[in-house]
Amino acid sequence: MQVIRIARIVGATDERTRNLVVVDGGQKTHVHCGADVLLSGLYQDVSGTSICPVCGKETRMVIVAGRLASVDPQSALLHYVVEDQRRFSICCEATFVFDKEECLKTWLGSHDGASGKTSSLPEFMNEASARRGPR
Ligand SMILES: [Zn+2]
Repeated sequence: MQVIRIARIVGATDERTRNLVVVDGGQKTHVHCGADVLLSGLYQDVSGTSICPVCGKETRMVIVAGRLASVDPQSALLHYVVEDQRRFSICCEATFVFDKEECLKTWLGSHDGASGKTSSLPEFMNEASARRGPR
């Protein structure tokens, strides 16, 4: 008997956003923000890309067993805003993956909305898996 697994993608959207999640079978889904790419990796192995809002460079992520297996470039940083602390849900409006610190600083200099936290991608994955519990 064939077991059909249904992908659980966080923040899936029909819009063509800067953020893309690819699940095992090659199914591609756009998601609202960079954090959604990482959070989707809590539920199945995924790879994904997120485009820096400042310079347009792509950051590539591979998540295996709920951990970040690789990130390219290594200098990538996530700025994120937690909307609901209890559920660790993310406010995508001010959540972006930057390919390098310089881009984050440029963006922070012109951003006057909600300010959040900055962390490396592996740090965010660790916090997310601790807060959201096991799959
Ligand atoms: Zn950049």
